[in-house]
Amino acid sequence: MQQTLWGDRLPQRRKKSVIPLQTAPPYSITGNDCQILGHTLREWDLAGCSICIDCQAKIFCPRCITAHPQDENAIAVLCERHEERQVSA
Ligand SMILES: [Zn+2]
Ligand SMILES: [Zn+2]
Repeated sequence: MQQTLWGDRLPQRRKKSVIPLQTAPPYSITGNDCQILGHTLREWDLAGCSICIDCQAKIFCPRCITAHPQDENAIAVLCERHEERQVSA
């Protein structure tokens, strides 16, 4: 019984079947804008909360309330009434 040159079949492993890694953070697209330009806030509600139009980040005014009622990781930003006016004097 003769053995052919290709007697031993090499298992065809597909080395290129790479599973795509989902490493991209969900806020990568608009997150930079907010870091550079600052958040674009929506209207403040009566509770002293707002939200960023761009990145949907929760915003709350620390002078109106001590913490955001829904999101403990919300960003503290002074609201229109409490923001310190830039007095150039
Ligand atoms: Zn934002
Ligand atoms: Zn406020």
